[in-house]
Amino acid sequence: MSENPTTDDFPVNDLPETGTPAAPAKPKATHALALAPVGSPASSVDGFVREFLRELNYGQGVALSTSSVNDQYLALARTVRHYLMARWLETLRRQAETQAKGVAYLSAEYLLGRQLGNALLATGLTEIVEEGLGKCGVDLAALRAQEVEPGLGNGGLGRLAACFIDSLATMSVPCIGYGIRYEYGIFRQTFVEGRQVEQADSWLALGAPWEFPHPEAAQIVTFGGHTEKYTDTDGVERSRWVAGWKVKAIPYNYMVPGYQNGRVNTLRLWRAQATDAFDLKIFNSGDYEEAVRAQTFAENISKVLYPEDSTPQGKELRLQQQYFFVSASIHDFVNSVLPKDFDLHKLPDRIIFQLNDTHPVIGVPELMRVLIDEKKMDWDEAWAITQQCFAYTCHTLLPEALEVWSVDLLGRLLPRHLEIIYRINEEFLERVSERFDGDQLRVSRMSIIAEHPERAVRMAYLATVAGAKVNGVAELHSQLLRDKVLPDFDEFFPGKFTNVTNGVTPRRFVRLANPALSELITDAIGVGWLTDLERLRELEPYAEDEEFRDRFREVKAHNKRRLNRVLVERDGFTVDDSHLLDVMVKRLHEYKRQTLKVLHIVTEYERIISGEVKPADITPRTFIFGAKAAPGYKIAKDIIHLINGVGAVVNNDKRVEGRLKVLFPPNYNVTLAEKVIPAADLSEQISLAGKEASGTGNMKFALNGALTIGTDDGANIEIRELVGDDNFFLFGLLEPEVEALYAKGYVPSSFYESDPSLKRAIDLIAQGAFSDGDRDVFAPVVGNLLYEDRFMALADYRAYIDAQDKVGAAYADTDAWTRSAILNVARSGFFSSDRSMRHYIDRIWHTPPAF
Ligand SMILES: *Cc1c(COP(=O)(O)O)cnc(C)c1O
Repeated sequence: MSENPTTDDFPVNDLPETGTPAAPAKPKATHALALAPVGSPASSVDGFVREFLRELNYGQGVALSTSSVNDQYLALARTVRHYLMARWLETLRRQAETQAKGVAYLSAEYLLGRQLGNALLATGLTEIVEEGLGKCGVDLAALRAQEVEPGLGNGGLGRLAACFIDSLATMSVPCIGYGIRYEYGIFRQTFVEGRQVEQADSWLALGAPWEFPHPEAAQIVTFGGHTEKYTDTDGVERSRWVAGWKVKAIPYNYMVPGYQNGRVNTLRLWRAQATDAFDLKIFNSGDYEEAVRAQTFAENISKVLYPEDSTPQGKELRLQQQYFFVSASIHDFVNSVLPKDFDLHKLPDRIIFQLNDTHPVIGVPELMRVLIDEKKMDWDEAWAITQQCFAYTCHTLLPEALEVWSVDLLGRLLPRHLEIIYRINEEFLERVSERFDGDQLRVSRMSIIAEHPERAVRMAYLATVAGAKVNGVAELHSQLLRDKVLPDFDEFFPGKFTNVTNGVTPRRFVRLANPALSELITDAIGVGWLTDLERLRELEPYAEDEEFRDRFREVKAHNKRRLNRVLVERDGFTVDDSHLLDVMVKRLHEYKRQTLKVLHIVTEYERIISGEVKPADITPRTFIFGAKAAPGYKIAKDIIHLINGVGAVVNNDKRVEGRLKVLFPPNYNVTLAEKVIPAADLSEQISLAGKEASGTGNMKFALNGALTIGTDDGANIEIRELVGDDNFFLFGLLEPEVEALYAKGYVPSSFYESDPSLKRAIDLIAQGAFSDGDRDVFAPVVGNLLYEDRFMALADYRAYIDAQDKVGAAYADTDAWTRSAILNVARSGFFSSDRSMRHYIDRIWHTPPAF
């Protein structure tokens, strides 16, 4: 290896500055090198520099000396891509050869986070790149910061999809992810006078170096029109769909690299484009404006992600999006991915389409239509295949979150699919009626078609009838799904319901987000834990090791200082590393109960200013919020305003200075999560029991050594069982108690009347203490709490405050706290999404690793 890069092919001005001779390049990590198939660029510092400069010069068309940070970022991204390319092509070649069974993950959302760091980690190139860029006078950290994350999801559901495809690639399981390449992802949140303001997320504006568009592989997706009956040449009566309009779906491929294992799976996101023919016809009619309008209309389909989380809106464009990506994906799989001569009767041996919530459920009638109308199968054959090719993951328990599409709209947009759904329903209800002796009440309860308030297709029912398996996302959620949401179906389809508890990828949420902790772990237990996370158990004895505890604490402090730097630069906020960092980051939703957190903060504040406690007697805390509200969700936006109002007062009141601080950095996303979570001491998971399906934020925190204060809900329950009661602050009503209280008649104001400290907190808000004396601004929030409080924040208030008092006291015992934090890390290995994937494979997919 030469000391300086060979730059013969490049302009002299791009010779890296080498005033002092560069240190000899370190040999790179051997495992990654050994796994790089022939054809990858040389894995040496010099080899890297050559590739990087080539991309800068010939790809970006700039000299190093005149290049912008963005030029350098794009050149680096493309260079790193080269290292993955041979593995990607090899993965595709082997898959084509073996035709091993794989997963097609259908998801309307992928909340991917930044790609560069993950690609560097997967290739094992980080050190080489850091050194090589150093020789060019370029700082890797600055280039990483240049990347705008693809925010193609709202929150947990989209992030889950991203974790799952990472795990499948790392476990060498064949998987193709299908979704939508939204031109605008989740909005960028800013605050103006404490209120949320949404801005368009132009994530593509500075270039998209990770995607590979393939316009030549476009699929056509049709809509509207009508259906006809006809007799085919064999005398068989058939239906056909005479569509009214169509759009082109252009695939954009993304690499999904496994962690240093030589495998690269594919994520295929579709972009909508007007078809030439469609344009041309109108254009030829001489109506230029109409031609342009048609183009805009078509391209609107993949223009923007709907920012609703847990509350579907039933908008026509949303149904267009769903059908657009599912139809393109199924056609792509059947007509392009499968070999030409593939016998579709064997489809279930080759693929399982996993439905991430109900958003892709229109794929069920679509596959039926393809098999019957296009491939000329008969109904029974097609239905037998379809039932084996789909499985459905339910993500909610809230009735308002169960998606329905009005028959009117669906019939207008997808008339053939409505026919197919009706027939599926007819045959299904016939079986129900037969089995239950004509029990008409049950038949109407189980109908895929709801009659009230309007005729509508219940997508969850359709998915349940068609799916080989239906799973919930945490033990409690799966149980409630069977007992409360779909009990008739559980009875009718024994064995269909199962659970797979969610997980998170430790590559992104431990290794990339928390390098300091990762190093400490590896020092203690060696390598290998990153792909076998249960090995974190080996850390347990270290909880008793004083030196290890000191180092663990230093890691936490280091992460708080890192967060401080990020927030100073981003928002001008400072974080004191001696404070207990109390963090609630997740979408703003009433069921998640950010208001309960606010009531705690106001209570602490009130205790100090009223003189009830001396400032010196409370544990200094910094509260951090991160939360976007759906733009049309009024009360959620009011709550954001309230949090900012409380922050503005608390942070400027000398009486609580150095004791209480409230920070709400705007635009919570994956990038911010990666900085906030590793710094946290306390993880707020305070949903009303029975409302949060699983949560995955809770898992990220536990794995990064935060203790949880949480209700008996979702995956909190499994976290507590694993980490132990002593290392978890449990509070609040249990799910059956919640049900009992609803049944009895919940009167929130009675809690207000009977708990003086709750009354004082609510009165402070109502009297305008956090709104410059204005009593109107937060009246909707106060009114909602006192007279509605659907999620029982007031009922859980006392238990929450008492649990928080215990937290404050516990944090003062540094050693005991650190011990608990270490045990949280050591006992949370179960929450790796690798384990989730193992369970999906065993219980649902039956797709063994391929190579
Ligand atoms: C993990 C994650 C979520 C989900 O958080 P919950 O607490 O489970 O709701 C949402 N948004 C982002 C950016 C995440 O990383």
